[in-house]
Amino acid sequence: MSSCNEMRVEFKSIAQNERMVVAAFITETNPTLEEVSDIKTAVSEAVTNSIIHAYDNREGIIHIKAKTENRLVTIWVTDEGHGIEDIKKAMEPMYTTKANEDRSGLGFSFMEALMDGIEVCSKKNVGTTVKMWKEIGATGHHFN
Ligand code: ATP
Ligand code: MG
Repeated sequence: MSSCNEMRVEFKSIAQNERMVVAAFITETNPTLEEVSDIKTAVSEAVTNSIIHAYDNREGIIHIKAKTENRLVTIWVTDEGHGIEDIKKAMEPMYTTKANEDRSGLGFSFMEALMDGIEVCSKKNVGTTVKMWKEIGATGHHFN
């Protein structure tokens, strides 16, 4: 059976409940606990980046859009913050502009490892969108 759905949420950057919202939304794709956990972690990394890098821990709006197309889950995390000057460099493992704040520069690497794909669109002083997707059931150990 084919099915499609879409969800959009917006919240202030000080909130931290995005993981649960996305987890609830993707249940309809019948994911394993591991898949849910992977997606929650990836979304959380993107949202944390918006909070600390885009908005400098000050208040700002973060938009999350999520879509399911059969077993494909696609998620967009968008902020209207500082933007990224050099996306390629920002995505390199261990590259961080906040080394002095105990950041390890591995957020994008985690997102890449946990999801099937990730694309970053950003413009200086306009904002950033991280698009990521994952096919549910690709690893083949489903119980139902
Ligand atoms: P870690 O995620 O390990 O705590 P980090 O956040 O610095 O460290 P990444 O998540 O890989 O590492 O991000 C790399 C760099 O990309 C950041 O240091 C920051 O300069 C830039 N960056 C990432 N997301 C955004 C964003 N939404 N807005 C502005 N800059 C960003
Ligand atoms: Mg990060």
